[in-house]
Amino acid sequence: MTDYRIVCTDQTGCTTGGHITAVGTGADANSASQRFTVQQVYNLMNNGNTFHTYGAGRRADVHKWDCACGVGTLRSSADSTTANNLDNLRICTWK
Ligand SMILES: [Zn+2]
Repeated sequence: MTDYRIVCTDQTGCTTGGHITAVGTGADANSASQRFTVQQVYNLMNNGNTFHTYGAGRRADVHKWDCACGVGTLRSSADSTTANNLDNLRICTWK
């Protein structure tokens, strides 16, 4: 079982302002080492792996969440600080 740290996200436009379609994980907040689509994250979660964000010295667990537009996506736990909110992470810059 692995506890992945999400450091960036890919997002798409939908009527509510966009939802996460893929994430980058790794130990370095400025450089993701692996990319996972939301479906891949769901599969990993189903197999017992966990995902989280980290910011301002605090971690937030990341959970499955259905966007208002009906698409399955991800969200960090509601008690998180702004600094570790999944929606506030930088956009991935894949090369
Ligand atoms: Zn959406």
